[in-house]
Amino acid sequence: MDLIVGGGVVGLSVAWRLARSGARVTVIDPAPASGASHAAAGMLAPVSEVSYTEEPLLRLGLAALERWPAFAAELEADSGLALDYRTQGTMDLAFGSDDMAALEELAAFMDKLGLPVRRLTGRECRRLEPMLAPSVRGGVLAEGDAWVDPRRVTAALLAALERSGVPVERRRVTELVRDGTAVVGVRLAPDEKTGAGDVVLGDRVVLAAGAWSGGLAGLPVRPVKGQIMRLRSPSPLLGRCVRGMVHGSPVYLVPRGDGELVVGATQEELGFDTRVTAGGLYELLRDARELVPGVTELQVADIEAGLRPCTPDNLPLIGPYGPGLTLATGHHRGGVLLSPLTTALLQGEEGDLAALCSPQRFQTAGQGS
Ligand code: FAD
Repeated sequence: MDLIVGGGVVGLSVAWRLARSGARVTVIDPAPASGASHAAAGMLAPVSEVSYTEEPLLRLGLAALERWPAFAAELEADSGLALDYRTQGTMDLAFGSDDMAALEELAAFMDKLGLPVRRLTGRECRRLEPMLAPSVRGGVLAEGDAWVDPRRVTAALLAALERSGVPVERRRVTELVRDGTAVVGVRLAPDEKTGAGDVVLGDRVVLAAGAWSGGLAGLPVRPVKGQIMRLRSPSPLLGRCVRGMVHGSPVYLVPRGDGELVVGATQEELGFDTRVTAGGLYELLRDARELVPGVTELQVADIEAGLRPCTPDNLPLIGPYGPGLTLATGHHRGGVLLSPLTTALLQGEEGDLAALCSPQRFQTAGQGS
């Protein structure tokens, strides 16, 4: 029996794929789908999110993006639910002249890496997306990037697990239970009614507790706060994801099929603070409005702050971490994108990519064993 600790997009994906391949699985989470996965925008955009120092992450992202069409189709079939998975690409936009110079440089870097992008003038940007501001200077279109609604993904994963009889225990894990050096199970927080704190034994514990994974296994995983808002419009304002630099400050807008428009996101190092602040929302709206003036007319549907699980090198921790313990965590700002790849790596596929994510890179002698 595999015990999956954490029912965010990562833990639920792992549980679903393992169950599909015939394994016995239990998910343990006091509030499944409530963590970073609930806040996430759902961009599957390794090309438009590329950064100068993160080529290994780009390799992971591209491999994950390739797996998304089959992952989405199988999940929709297993759950009977639609994911709003869309493939119209992502536009990186520049607002001021400094932003345009930075985007030119980024486009040259993308060319050097052989990434499939198309440069656009301001006018071409507006032809593709008529709601963009006249002051948008230009852009780069990554036609292969995609996006999905993460809340629909986790709902579909929970439905697929229910259909295949996988139990989801709504309890909190307080610690890993060891026998000598091996992890043999988990201890649960006392039950509210009986006060009993149970131990659940398993053949393997898969730790997928997002930003909370660090505390459970002494891992270098820290929370990075992201504030994000969901707006509602009677009909979709954009046809594709739009990311932009507005005077050096990044912002993105992600449209859903039902008219929802997601505007995100801040990146703040404030520990486990999940307060939504006036300043955070102000900055998002201020920058979003520069790119798409119509956003201020929309109804606010939802505001939220989530905690991205971040590692020191921004790469996830996927794979064995001593006897009885496997990690699937540390996905930082790409956990939705990387979920299909995470499950593949845990099932022994893509050996060279698995090496990039190996938890051994942070394992010092005696740790995790
Ligand atoms: P989580 O979703 O945080 O799930 C962890 C789960 O563990 C929770 O359900 C929690 O209840 C449970 N848990 C915690 N402690 C315990 C315990 N002791 N016992 C049992 N269970 C426990 N990624 C993308 O790919 N594309 C995006 O566009 C994107 N946008 C983002 C925008 C924002 C604002 C944020 C915050 C994140 C974004 N991300 C995005 C990143 C993505 O959300 C994360 O990488 C991903 O959700 C991590 O998934 P997870 O399952 O590891 O963690």
